[in-house]
Amino acid sequence: MGKIVIAIDGYSGCGKSSTAKIVAKELGYTYIDSGAMYRAATLHFLNHYLSPANPHDVEKGLKSLEITFQLNPDTHRQETYLNGLNVEDEIRSMRVSEKVSEIAAIPEIRKELVAQQQRLGKKKGVVMDGRDIGSVVFPDAELKIFMSADLETRAIRRQQELLEKGELVELQEISNNLAERDRIDSTRKESPLRKMPDAVEIDTSHLSFLEQVGQIVELARNTIKKEEEYASND
Ligand code: C5P
Repeated sequence: MGKIVIAIDGYSGCGKSSTAKIVAKELGYTYIDSGAMYRAATLHFLNHYLSPANPHDVEKGLKSLEITFQLNPDTHRQETYLNGLNVEDEIRSMRVSEKVSEIAAIPEIRKELVAQQQRLGKKKGVVMDGRDIGSVVFPDAELKIFMSADLETRAIRRQQELLEKGELVELQEISNNLAERDRIDSTRKESPLRKMPDAVEIDTSHLSFLEQVGQIVELARNTIKKEEEYASND
């Protein structure tokens, strides 16, 4: 079966990552969480007291930054490593969420992480989620999805996720963080979040998790079929 690239972009907390993970599993594809890379970079800057506003700090931070993914054999979960240390849980904390959009707006940081993402997706057969996947990382992706959901639904879902990890955070604080990240991500100069004209929009506010996965898997199968027909007529 031919392999395609599936780019999933959208607002913070719409369930892009959890959906993309299962879509990849269903198709036998590799899942790449580009947000985890910006989060790991943020943790690195925080841990070393590096300021994104200082070009020397940015250079220093990027030089000493190594982000990798490894599959946990017990949970079958792909986990994020920062300079050899497992940071999967730490990068999801509010401490990182509060700073990540500021770090992700720095052009030098984006340039480096985009190049890594492009290398990871070179062989196709990937589902990657983020903010600029369909616009900058893989503008030729065969399938582009733009996910949205209303703010309250997103905040409730995110609160539940944090609770499952043992972090109790007020709904208002989560809602403010999501809205602020959306604002920074959509208005930044460097590759802002936007819906591409060739992306299929899916509003997940009133969809169950299985419904949103099902819709994307169906779109993916149809796209793969079309690509195969196209290749056989070539
Ligand atoms: O996807 P997630 O919510 O974990 O992403 C965290 C942050 O990383 C986003 O709010 C955004 O600022 C940044 N990001 C980005 N481009 C991507 C993925 C994430 O700017 N491709």
